[in-house]
Amino acid sequence: MRGIVERALRAFLETRDADEKLREIAKRHGALPVLNDMSAAYLLRPTGDVISVDWDTTDRFDLEVDPRIRNTAIYQGTRKYPELEPLTPTRTDKSKVCPHCDGAGKDPDAAKLGLENVLCYCGGLGWIPETDHGGIHENVDCADPESAGT
Ligand SMILES: [Zn+2]
Repeated sequence: MRGIVERALRAFLETRDADEKLREIAKRHGALPVLNDMSAAYLLRPTGDVISVDWDTTDRFDLEVDPRIRNTAIYQGTRKYPELEPLTPTRTDKSKVCPHCDGAGKDPDAAKLGLENVLCYCGGLGWIPETDHGGIHENVDCADPESAGT
């Protein structure tokens, strides 16, 4: 893992047309940008850790421990950098079919609208880890003060 990510990171930093802010974040945190969303950049470290860096506070990072988020970030990384392909998250017997896309890997609503940049809950894999609740009770989680702000 280490060598593959380090090589891809070096190549990214040398890419002339790389986004300057993303390049800065990659350099500062020693990690390869694999996925961007509205609030944060997700990066893969040579150790295999996935971190997220808020666009507004780029000197800090959060370690991503949610297996679904990790899988999403790594899988999207394999699509951006073909050399990361050996790191593709592995589906197990216990993985569950994504309840949002029924395994297609594409958000059905976004697909209808032709939105290519909207990711399904599963991150495009079509399956989610066995420990994931599938996002069905998302609103309940948001109202739970225990999980707020984590
Ligand atoms: Zn899905």
